[in-house]
Amino acid sequence: MGIPKKNELVIMVILLINIIVIAVAVFTMFSPNSTQSSIKKADYQQALKYSILFYDANKCGRHVDVDNVFDWRGPCHIDDGKDLNLDFTGGFHDGGDHLKVGINQGYTASILGWSLYTYRDIFDSTGNTKKLLSTLKYFTDYFLKCHTNKSTFYYGIGDVIEDHNYWGPPENQSLDRPTHLVADINHPASDVCGETSAALSIMYLNYRDTENSYALKCLSAAKELYQMGKENRGYAQVQSSYDSGSFYDDLSWAALWLYKAENDKEYLNDAQEFVVKKSKYNNNPLMNNWTLCWDDVSLACLTELYTITKNPKYSDALNYNLNYWKNDLKKTRGGLKYLNKNGVLRYAANASLIAMKWYEITNDKSLKVFAKSQIDYILGANPSKTSYIIGFGKKYPQNVSHRAANGYDSIQQDKQKKSKNVLLGALVSGPSDKDQFIDKVENYEYTEAIIDFNAGLIGALASIIGDAD
Ligand code: ZN
Ligand code: CA
Repeated sequence: MGIPKKNELVIMVILLINIIVIAVAVFTMFSPNSTQSSIKKADYQQALKYSILFYDANKCGRHVDVDNVFDWRGPCHIDDGKDLNLDFTGGFHDGGDHLKVGINQGYTASILGWSLYTYRDIFDSTGNTKKLLSTLKYFTDYFLKCHTNKSTFYYGIGDVIEDHNYWGPPENQSLDRPTHLVADINHPASDVCGETSAALSIMYLNYRDTENSYALKCLSAAKELYQMGKENRGYAQVQSSYDSGSFYDDLSWAALWLYKAENDKEYLNDAQEFVVKKSKYNNNPLMNNWTLCWDDVSLACLTELYTITKNPKYSDALNYNLNYWKNDLKKTRGGLKYLNKNGVLRYAANASLIAMKWYEITNDKSLKVFAKSQIDYILGANPSKTSYIIGFGKKYPQNVSHRAANGYDSIQQDKQKKSKNVLLGALVSGPSDKDQFIDKVENYEYTEAIIDFNAGLIGALASIIGDAD
């Protein structure tokens, strides 16, 4: 009898273990936290730090190696502007290519500046303010150079075909780079002027306690660029794939920040007038099934305009857009909201920033749940368990489509090799709508990294870190 008893005991123990395992599994499946990942505050903080450092990799000009975390970057394109006997060195390469794109630099600097302005305490407490401010100054130094007089702004450097035919580090690129796009009395560019003006006004607000004389220079240029965009209305010329579809949103964004800088009601009136005007693709910006991006900053305007005016038409518009993101927009099986395959993660990050902003105002917790679900997906809570921020987490893309990071000189063969350098902090374009990611340099639709991708992400991470819950 002793032996069967022992067997019974073993069976009972096995049964008990099975019951416990099943119970834990069931509890995990149905507990309210089951869809939430194990990502911790320290992880968001590390992701924030890395995402800011990424910008060092895309710096252009004579002083790239100063205050740069990447020892594989150095001076490049030191003749930019020489074709006009002017100095347009500086600024940022757009992505893995080396063009300097006006609309995207203006947008990126304005969104980064907006985030610093809003979450200064978070950037301070996580030790990121100094680096972000110096990155922003690298943008605004360049904008000030390109604004050669009060009615002129140069915004396009580099020929797209020539540039895209080159594969190699920016330091080795010796092409003539034409300065081919200008906004002046004969050439409108209300979108570029609006974005750049907003970036400069925000820099005034962010920098006036650091160096007032520099901040005032930024404000003065911001006013002139706003006047250029407002008085001579029209789209900028297409640069690379940046075919702008709206400029009233950009003028509204510019006017809004001038209002914040100067408290002049006329700017507030302009911002409100412009934000409802239709664009090429959208008859009603208050019913927007898209999100914040380089081409459309209307949602950013609406959060700020609502804060100032409490006008319900702005809150209705934000609820309309965020309900679309939460409830109607298709998502992958892994939970990524899929707006568009070209930079899908950038859109999810940008929508998360708008959702967090709106959560801070309304205290609607479903917005935070939504935003965290998207940011967590980016950080590795996805079916591939891949972080899409390079250098963050255990597994991340190895073959980003970025010439400086790739480090090889040959178009055909070498670029197939594993990247020489780690593009720390870069958010890549992202996976397919089946949650699949092709980690190859030539599949740029997956592995591209562009300056605007990180901009909304940084604000969203700062907001999540700062959330008290
Ligand atoms: Zn360069
Ligand atoms: Ca626009």
